[in-house]
Amino acid sequence: MLISGDKYVERLSGYEREIYVRGEKVEDFTNHPNIKPVVKSIALTYELAGKKDEYSPYSKLVDDKVNRLNYVNENAEDLIARYDFQRELSMRLGTCNYRCTGCDAINSLYPATKEMDERLGTDYHKRFLELLKEIQRKDYACTAALTDTKGDRSKRPKEAKDMYVHVVEKREDGIVVSGAKIHQSGAFAADINFVLPTQTFKEGEEEFAIAFAVKPEDEGVKYILQNTGYQAKFREGGEFEIGNPYGDRITCTVIFDNVFIPWERVFVFEDLKATRNLLTNFAISHRCVGASCKAGFIDSMTGAASLMLKVNGLDRVPVLRQKIGEMVGVSEAAHAIAVGSATKGFESYGTWLPNMLMANSGKVIGVEGFNKVIMNLAEIAGGIPVTAPSEFDLKSEEVGKYVEKYLVANPEFSAEERMKVIKFVEFWITSSHLLGAVHGGGSPAAAVVFLQILADMKEREEAVRDIIGLKR
Ligand SMILES: Cc1cc2nc3c(=O)[nH]c(=O)nc-3n(C[C@H](O)[C@H](O)[C@H](O)COP(=O)(O)OP(=O)(O)OC[C@H]3O[C@@H](n4cnc5c(N)ncnc54)[C@H](O)[C@@H]3O)c2cc1C
Repeated sequence: MLISGDKYVERLSGYEREIYVRGEKVEDFTNHPNIKPVVKSIALTYELAGKKDEYSPYSKLVDDKVNRLNYVNENAEDLIARYDFQRELSMRLGTCNYRCTGCDAINSLYPATKEMDERLGTDYHKRFLELLKEIQRKDYACTAALTDTKGDRSKRPKEAKDMYVHVVEKREDGIVVSGAKIHQSGAFAADINFVLPTQTFKEGEEEFAIAFAVKPEDEGVKYILQNTGYQAKFREGGEFEIGNPYGDRITCTVIFDNVFIPWERVFVFEDLKATRNLLTNFAISHRCVGASCKAGFIDSMTGAASLMLKVNGLDRVPVLRQKIGEMVGVSEAAHAIAVGSATKGFESYGTWLPNMLMANSGKVIGVEGFNKVIMNLAEIAGGIPVTAPSEFDLKSEEVGKYVEKYLVANPEFSAEERMKVIKFVEFWITSSHLLGAVHGGGSPAAAVVFLQILADMKEREEAVRDIIGLKR
């Protein structure tokens, strides 16, 4: 079933959730200035899904249309449709859509649970399908929490147990878990939060090798929101001072204070192989879609750069227009990696996954491209995004007339119109987006490790040996 963005917001506001912002517990959380942008962003994933058939495929599991982000991909076309959807969402939002980690969790738990059942004769896949049916029927918004707080990175999980989500009690009807996940994008605004391991584990570390789903009714789950300069800006209010009403990438720390999870929502329990499969699937799925996501962000930055040239009266300057051409090239290249990964992908236990090598290169090239594009935008924009007065100055009785006069550039645009573009560019250059691009979905270093392991170096070396006549 497909529900509207309004219905999603209505359902979300009915949840009792313990959310903290700046040390205070939030009441009426869907209307809080730091949470509302996330809710608005997720609402658009509902609205846009209904606009194109590719964004709302038919699911035989529930005999109905479902959101592309709740769908199990069966072939390359499915994956490409997902990448197109996410690129468009990123461009239209200029920020995270928050549901992509949920989609990655669905498409990695599906094959991992199936493999485990075939190997062990268990019923994890059946449990997972029951929840997936509910997700698709009710059109739930799903997110995924992997990153543990980890503590001292030089220690193994057993030596820093509390810093990893782990089992504290095994009961007949379920498990009790404790720990915390950090950097969680939008988890406080989701219906379902999948909790997956942050890394693979060795023998003896089974208590950490768990995957489960959290529902709104689960007790002991607390959310502490991030607090950057942008969050402070959002609390300050204004009409356009914040740059982008959908906000920057808003994350939280999720505390699990002895949370009971019934067995029907536990999908991996103390299984090292399933954990490895799950994380490999998740990593390639997330890194690959990240390339399309970045393409959409770059499209947004390119639009902003083009408008900036117009409001500054510089849109006919070839050296600056060339920078826009470069930005378009980076965006298309990032999306092309995702489309190529889908086309050269592979089937795993009923799920179509992207090509592993290409998916990981999407992370590396995507980050490099993102960096270049922010630089281009900064060059095009001049210094004004970080030096401009505020919307409040423009509206002030005392200094408004000066801002009105001195902030105009191209006379075809008012000071207010130019300031709206300036604030949007400020948002792109100074918000959490760059770090989000670098580390979201795992640091580039993690993707490079995958590339080193997966690349066929023997074949490459042999090719060079043949050319230069090297015998050994
Ligand atoms: C905006 C944003 C949104 C995010 N959203 C989510 C989300 O929704 N869900 C989720 O689960 N996670 C999310 N993440 C987390 C992201 O996956 C992590 O930031 C990433 O995996 C790196 O972990 P860390 O930040 O804890 O870095 P750290 O573990 O502190 O590492 C710091 C740096 O050191 C490197 N490093 C660490 N250990 C080693 C080692 N042994 N050898 C070599 N290098 C090492 C890392 O690669 C990294 O570059 C998000 C992150 C950001 C910034």
